[in-house]
Amino acid sequence: MSSFNPSSACEETTGDIPPGGVYLCQVSASVSCGACCGLYNRFRWSRKEISDALARRTRLFAEVPREVAAIDAFRRRIESQEPRRHPLPQFHHCPFLGLVGRRRSRVGCLLHPMAEGNHGVDYRGLSEYGGLACRTYFCPTHRRVRPAHSQIVRNAIPHWYDYGFVVTEWKFLVHLFTELEKRCQRPLLWADIADSASCRQSLVDLLLLKMSWPYRSSSKIPPVHYFFNDRMYVRPGIDYSVLGTDVSPLDAILAELDSDFATAQQLREAEAVVNRLLSVFQRRYDAVFTAGDGG
Ligand code: SF4
Repeated sequence: MSSFNPSSACEETTGDIPPGGVYLCQVSASVSCGACCGLYNRFRWSRKEISDALARRTRLFAEVPREVAAIDAFRRRIESQEPRRHPLPQFHHCPFLGLVGRRRSRVGCLLHPMAEGNHGVDYRGLSEYGGLACRTYFCPTHRRVRPAHSQIVRNAIPHWYDYGFVVTEWKFLVHLFTELEKRCQRPLLWADIADSASCRQSLVDLLLLKMSWPYRSSSKIPPVHYFFNDRMYVRPGIDYSVLGTDVSPLDAILAELDSDFATAQQLREAEAVVNRLLSVFQRRYDAVFTAGDGG
């Protein structure tokens, strides 16, 4: 039996306003999130591997009669055919995650009443955590990240696979946006970023840093984020006493990238990478307010 993890990877918003006021789970035809359903808690986690698995489930589920026994048989089939071991064993990976939308172009819940073939019936009561948890859970990003910044994340990342990896990283997002606003000396607003392709790209480069971060401590498992408040899988933070250095000015960001440095030299290299990306964004954002696109 897994630990706690309800899901909000539903097909559409219920119309209820989520905490914080910005709905982050289903965003557009190509942007959605399934992270709280354990989407990334897989050893085979490339874009293709996850997309292929979801597409296969969706095809199979389309043939399943909407009856309790048949849906339960589908769950057992998926669980027996896909790897049973998961990087974070206590974090449930939901077999009902699939592709939703008219073109099956984003991740979502196959049991949701608005998902293909369900004709308005909510089958989420058949999931591991039950319908109530699936309907009502919202990850900490909804409450912890300022609405203007949540809007930026919603709009900046164009594909569900990348978006879901990043949107739950509320501490990283808070520290990143704080640092950017300090350097830019103005609030960050999507309306100002949107028109500059180069500015948008430099922001995405920062937001997606974790996907290719070479200093990640748990490099043998995917960068899956456990964000539930039972503190079961906690990032250790950076031990500066081992490195013989002062705490980095970028500590909060580096720690949320799950960094582990063997030497002070590595720490300096990592700081340089982040500083360079921050500077590129700052220059391009400043250009939005002066001569236009900073290229
Ligand atoms: S992890 Fe957060 S953003 Fe993603 S589906 Fe769950 S509640 Fe929504």
